[in-house]
Amino acid sequence: MVQIKKNIGVETKSTSCGGTFLHPTPMLDELEKGPWPSFIVGIKELAERTRKPMLRGVLDQLEYSYQTKTGYWEGGLVTAYGYGSGVISRRSKIADKFPEAHEFHTLRVQPAPGLHYNTTMLRDLCDTWEKHGSGLIALHGQTGDIMLQGIEEAKVQECFDEINQAGWDLGGAGPAMRTSVSCVGPARCEHACYDTLQLHYKVMQHFAGDVHRPQYSYKFKFKFSGCPNDCTNAIFRSDLAVIGMWRDAIAMDTEAMQGWIQKNGVDFLVNTVINRCPTRVISLAEGMMVIDNANCVRCMHCINVITEALSPGRERGLAILLGGKNTLKVGAMGGTMIVPFFKMETDEDIAAFIRLSETMIEWWNDNSFDHERIGETIERVGLKQFLDGVGLDASIDMVSRPRSNPYYKSES
Ligand code: SF4
Ligand code: SF4
Repeated sequence: MVQIKKNIGVETKSTSCGGTFLHPTPMLDELEKGPWPSFIVGIKELAERTRKPMLRGVLDQLEYSYQTKTGYWEGGLVTAYGYGSGVISRRSKIADKFPEAHEFHTLRVQPAPGLHYNTTMLRDLCDTWEKHGSGLIALHGQTGDIMLQGIEEAKVQECFDEINQAGWDLGGAGPAMRTSVSCVGPARCEHACYDTLQLHYKVMQHFAGDVHRPQYSYKFKFKFSGCPNDCTNAIFRSDLAVIGMWRDAIAMDTEAMQGWIQKNGVDFLVNTVINRCPTRVISLAEGMMVIDNANCVRCMHCINVITEALSPGRERGLAILLGGKNTLKVGAMGGTMIVPFFKMETDEDIAAFIRLSETMIEWWNDNSFDHERIGETIERVGLKQFLDGVGLDASIDMVSRPRSNPYYKSES
């Protein structure tokens, strides 16, 4: 039976009983219900179209996992020549029961900066993947990679060689420099305070050896956001968050601002902007919006609301926050401000950024326990030890909650 279902306004077909290429999976069928997109629908469609036994086996094993409430995948080692990472191995512990899914390895492929692709490259990648692997792709996984999910070990090298010839490279895995992600940056966003795409590209080129050959205490990840809106979620999901920043005043087009106030009214300005400024540094003077820039914490709220008239200042660069991560040993952590402003205009600025990053990574590798992220190491030994170790001066901007401390007030 083929049923049509609506998933967020998009009609998709799902096959939900026997008589087809697939075996009955009554528990997985439950996951096709509801208004949200279903990964089961996607896998079933792909399996019916490509008739790949591997996909059928994965669905069968998953159904069995739901019945027994047990996972049956285990890791191991699969690599391409010259690479120590980039392929996540998955072998079934119950291959005798479901031989069609005895191996289901994942190739992590690095994304282009800003996730900019052309359609030819994507089509070629899909064709190669359907030829060698399952055809199942996650774009993009939590790692930032393009995840090519489901290939047997014997086919990994040939598949990798083909995508590598087409210009793609494997991402990181294990105790290594991990795949990085950048926002669309100056290519398509007016808020970008530095060229996220260029910095992402240069940094990952520099650390390419550390991506492919794991040699760190644990994983280390850069993420590049062009402004404090942090569209890549760098502060909470990367060890070194690179956030676009300005250090002069917010730029205001007074004529456009007058027009905006006329169009939306003063009450709207007060309710949606002035009262929502986290540090209450916006006021009204003779019907015009005035910002006390020395006490602005660069949250972007006013700029996001009044994009026509406000933009980040002219003196632009980036801030570096260190130590963000999701749950592991000490729980989720946000990055700590390490460098409030770093100029990023020339090749020399890029080289200086890379040198500083290398110094931090070196300090971490010398001082960390095995399997310890840099934020955890800093938490354990103290921020002062870290700053002394990498040669940075302490700054009042590094306190975690400056506005809750009555003795400090930033000058700029
Ligand atoms: Fe634009 Fe800022 Fe988001 Fe980058 S992080 S896409 S610059 S809003
Ligand atoms: Fe206030 Fe945020 Fe605007 Fe700064 S950027 S003035 S803190 S709303």
